[in-house]
Amino acid sequence: MSSPRFEPTTPAGISTRSVHSGAMPEARTGSVVAPIFQTSTFMMDTPGQTRAGFDYARTGTPNRSDLEQALCELERATFAAAVNSGTSAEVAVFSALLRPGDEVILPRDVYGGTFRLLQNEYVRWGVAIRTVDLTDTEALAAAINENTAIIWVETPSNPGLDIIDIAETARLAHASNALLAVDSTFATPILQRPLELGADIVVHSTTKFINGHSDVIGGAVLTGDGTSCPRAAEVVDRLESHLASVGLGISPFDAWLTRRGIKTLPVRMKAHCENAQAVAEWLETRDEVADVIYPGLPSHPGHKVAKRQMSGFGGVVSLRTDTEERALSLVANTKLITLAESLGGVESLIDHPATMTHLSVAGSEVSVSGRFIRLSVGIEDIDDILADLAQALDATAEGRAEAPSDLDSSRIADPDASAVGVSVLA
Ligand SMILES: *Cc1c(COP(=O)(O)O)cnc(C)c1O
Repeated sequence: MSSPRFEPTTPAGISTRSVHSGAMPEARTGSVVAPIFQTSTFMMDTPGQTRAGFDYARTGTPNRSDLEQALCELERATFAAAVNSGTSAEVAVFSALLRPGDEVILPRDVYGGTFRLLQNEYVRWGVAIRTVDLTDTEALAAAINENTAIIWVETPSNPGLDIIDIAETARLAHASNALLAVDSTFATPILQRPLELGADIVVHSTTKFINGHSDVIGGAVLTGDGTSCPRAAEVVDRLESHLASVGLGISPFDAWLTRRGIKTLPVRMKAHCENAQAVAEWLETRDEVADVIYPGLPSHPGHKVAKRQMSGFGGVVSLRTDTEERALSLVANTKLITLAESLGGVESLIDHPATMTHLSVAGSEVSVSGRFIRLSVGIEDIDDILADLAQALDATAEGRAEAPSDLDSSRIADPDASAVGVSVLA
């Protein structure tokens, strides 16, 4: 190993850490950017004696470890595992920490895939799910019981942008020996650091803002050092053992791309937040839009909490149109803004959750209205984004484009929609 120009322990600003943490010049050649170590196994000098702690790529690789170091230093965590999807990060948490008879408390608005994962894969192993409005701490206090093992918080939530008070939820969780896991995908460590607010576990879909270029599926699970998480040692132990046995780790190339994406994370988040705020304020002036949901608007019920626990309000804006027909027509008419699942990339994307990302939870307690639209506001010029939204909204009035047939709104209310195996996703 070379002598690093930047010591990982150096106190440094978050932009400096985004550029340099886990991004040392490579020892052998001096390559300023680390190579991609595309290997499945590592030479030993004598049995068990490795050169740099790597033996077999299921359990760890240099590119994965660089990414984990960067994530740790950004999130102020002491343990990070970079895995092959945000959903795998959730699998790691649930499989490592739940037993039959345990209950997971989920928020009323949650990423559809999280609900589906628990419902389809864990309920049959004897895990119970309870959905609670976690923006209401009294409702949470009433719901916690002796079986509550994990309180799962998603803030801001996908797609409703609910804001949950992390510090208060941590206090309630720890009072009953439950663990608090926070899916902080929409915030990234640039805008919110749940471990500093008392969470035991942080989960990210790094597919989204953290990688930021819509070219990798990845995830991460992180934990703190036990100052605020009473059971940190036990949690890390179980996560490590689960991850080494199962092999959810991210591939070298995907880890490398994600580490590269992180270099611009602070500047991207700043641009996402500025554009999203402008989009939210502009949408509020349009009659066709019944509600604009963005934590940066004073009208958002979670605005005060968001101001306290976040340093920016994020790049996602949600809205409800006056009619379902208008929602379907709007998403069909944007030109610059691409109709696609996922979010958090540099390019603006639009999603109709009821027929796309959240179709699999149609008819469940976390289903989404057909009038609802989620906008992932990219970092293009704001005038171009607003002009596209304006022409698309005008087109809905003129009835220019019919909603395409694969956005057939009759599927929205179909409680069996998940049975057809259509995606949930992102
Ligand atoms: C996309 C997403 C996930 C799942 O992540 P994948 O990388 O798609 O598996 C989990 N939580 C939230 C909030 C998400 O937006």
